[in-house]
Amino acid sequence: MDPLDLGARLAQLLATGRRVATYKLATLDALIQHCLENPVPDDAGLTVPIGDLADRVVEAYWPQVRVFGEHGVLRQIQHTRPDAVSLLDVVRALRGEAEQRGLSTAAQLRAAAPREWSKALRRVSTTLARQPLFRLQKTGGREPGVAFLYDDSWLSDDVTITTLDAHDWSIELLPGVPSALARVSSMLQPVVRQWWVEDVQRLNRDELELPDLHAFLFGAGRTAVDRLAPGLREYQANRCYYCHRTLIREVHVDHVLPWSRVPLDGVRNLVLTDPRCNGDKLATLPAVDHVRDLLARPEADLQTIAAPLRWPVETARVRGAAAGLYRAATVGSPLWREPGLYDFFDGHVAW
Ligand SMILES: [Zn+2]
Repeated sequence: MDPLDLGARLAQLLATGRRVATYKLATLDALIQHCLENPVPDDAGLTVPIGDLADRVVEAYWPQVRVFGEHGVLRQIQHTRPDAVSLLDVVRALRGEAEQRGLSTAAQLRAAAPREWSKALRRVSTTLARQPLFRLQKTGGREPGVAFLYDDSWLSDDVTITTLDAHDWSIELLPGVPSALARVSSMLQPVVRQWWVEDVQRLNRDELELPDLHAFLFGAGRTAVDRLAPGLREYQANRCYYCHRTLIREVHVDHVLPWSRVPLDGVRNLVLTDPRCNGDKLATLPAVDHVRDLLARPEADLQTIAAPLRWPVETARVRGAAAGLYRAATVGSPLWREPGLYDFFDGHVAW
């Protein structure tokens, strides 16, 4: 399947009709991330557990259910029934649970309260199956359209637990779809988030400034990861991860694999940098050597930094995402080496 065709088809599909919730966008973003983290050969299909998508959807909404200044908690769904419990309500409840335990991130709660987490995740999975996954490939019009990502003929807005059990709570991406989604992800992800921001603005009918809203919805996680700075500073012997200059006062915790592509907060993906490097790298993929060094850091060292803060390391996920991101990158793409200096991707990775 041609990635550009797939991307254009998805973009056109999502441009039809008015969304009554941001769930479709959250689900598509989760699907893209799953494909990036789990790369497969170009013509292969992929079994995607709905629970995995639910996990990512919860993580995406986690920062978004905070209070947004004077606007309060933002709406992301047009409630049709006052008694309906939304995905956002489930995420808010999980955040409340985390706060009671003195935790701040979704990953921390997942590790600390696995039972509560999986109970909530089952509810989210059921909602995903009945709403966005059932509707993702359809227009809002009378002709539903053809399933081109996965077989959705068994899904419905009242799909039962028995049917979900029979399908192992998974969808099967069609051959060629996972790799095409990964390849088009660098173009599709920003578009999905822009729609998401515009939908939130519309659903709240409020004087919301788009740039502020974008930063609020998708720029979060920074304050939490800053707590890793002292441990990383000691581990890096007070030097910037990228340019090896001595760190002076201002330091930044940087996601080496860009947060905007794969929102991985595990220590495996985090390094300490000076503002010069962090400010220049932005969302560019880093040079291959930077990723090689990132993956070579001994697990035990990262555990030493992470454990006191009850923070995850997530080596397997970061390794998967590194493989997926570079597999999806086009030969000739600029890879950030240091401020003002780029390598050009030759199609090879060495780790
Ligand atoms: Zn630097």
